[in-house]
This record gives sequence, C-alpha cells and structure tokens, in this order.
Amino acid sequence: MQFDILSIFPEMFESVFRESIIARAKEKGLIDIFLHNLRDYSQNKHKKVDDYPFGGGVGMVMGVEPIALALDDLKSDDTPAHTVLMSPSGNRLDQKKARELGVHKRIILICGRYEGVDERVALHYADEEISIGDYVLSGGEIPAMVLVDTLTRLIPGVLGDPRSSEEESFEQELLEYPQYTRPREFRGFKAPEVLLSGNHKEIEEWQKRHALEKTARRRPDLLEKIEIKKN
Ligand code: SAM
Repeated sequence: MQFDILSIFPEMFESVFRESIIARAKEKGLIDIFLHNLRDYSQNKHKKVDDYPFGGGVGMVMGVEPIALALDDLKSDDTPAHTVLMSPSGNRLDQKKARELGVHKRIILICGRYEGVDERVALHYADEEISIGDYVLSGGEIPAMVLVDTLTRLIPGVLGDPRSSEEESFEQELLEYPQYTRPREFRGFKAPEVLLSGNHKEIEEWQKRHALEKTARRRPDLLEKIEIKKN
C-alpha cells in the first residue's frame, strides 16, 4: 500500500514513521510512504498556502490552489489513488472504515491547517473526508498518522501473527479480552489462574466471556450494534 501525505509540516511524520511496526512494514516493502511539502506547490513568492476567509471570520483558510496543483502532480503518474481530506467534519474513522479504506492500493492524505481548508477541496478534489473523532486538533498531521498506523496494522504480513489484528478490539464489535503477563503476582494482585492452566478450551472460554463482560461494562453501544445486525 502506498501513502502520499500532503502537509506543510512533513517533518512531523519522520520520527513516528521511523519506529516499530510502520518502520518494519516499510522495510518489508509492505507499505511505501511519501511525504510532500504543500508549500512546494504554492505559487506565492513567500510560499504562502493560506489566505483570509471570504465573508470574514477568524483565522486563515488553506487555499485550494496549492492542493489542486499538488494533486495534479501526484496523480500524473497514473497510479490510481483514493484521496482523503483529514477533517473534523469527515466520516468517522473506526475499524470498519479502516477495513474499507484498506482496499485501496494508494491513498493520498491531505492535512489541513489553520481554520480549515477551502471547501472546494472537499467538493471537487477529495474522494472523502475522514475524521478521527469529535474533537478539533491543530492540524491534519496527527489524524493522518493515526490513519496510516491503523491501515498498516491491517495489511497481511505486517503483524507477526495475523490473529493479532483479527482478535483486536472492535473487530467483532467487541473490546479485546483482558491481557496479563509476568509476574503471576504483583504486590498481591494476581493474574487469573485459568490463563496459566494450559487448558486451551478453558482459556478461550474465559477470554470470550471477559471480552463480552468488558464490552458490556465499558461500551454497551457496541453490543447494541451486534443485536441490530442479528435482527
Ligand atoms: N475550523 C475547523 C472546524 O471547526 O471544523 C477546524 C480546523 S482544524 C484547527 C485544522 C485542520 O486540522 C483541519 O482542516 C483538519 O485537516 C485537521 N483536523 C482537526 N481535527 C481533526 C479531526 N478530528 N479529524 C481529522 N482531521 C482533523
């Protein structure tokens, strides 16, 4: 999978993408990430990419022109791409949405800044807008990192054991069961005996029961979704 990221702060991504699972996915050739500085596409002599909002209002707006020029350039190699504008008004990113986005071989991510992005980008250039949640960040860079990380984990071969991503929270509208590791007992707090019993059937039953209990306690809304699907 190829990610092209358009941002005025491309350096922000470097340390995040240099570590751990994303770094290993790059080494294995399972993903490619290309960072593009939006200012390189500014026609302004000061490399400005923002301007005052029409109709007044606070702050500045990221203009359509540098984004359109960047997309013309990125798409000139004819590799089909799904173009995503990071935006608080977008479709909410969840595990289901991540799986839907995972079908694309190439995704271009546009990171907004300032008070937002000229609406013509959403209307005429982006295939969709994605939000990572109902809160406002200062820019689209962190949301784009979240999206790249989430999609990368779903690519076969990225996680050592494919069951890791299948068993994770939200995969079956359930939170993941509680996990424990050594020591067996810490300051009097014991790990459940059954997990150390070696009895795989009992362990599996315990994990299923606790995934359900945890979901019922913390996210009853997820269980309601299962009920709706069943009916
Ligand atoms: N004024 C805008 C509004 O109220 O919707 C918020 C603009 S925000 C300060 C600047 C940029 O950060 C946005 O254009 C978007 O690219 C990104 N951003 C902020 N919050 C986001 C979120 N929850 N999900 C995705 N992108 C977000």
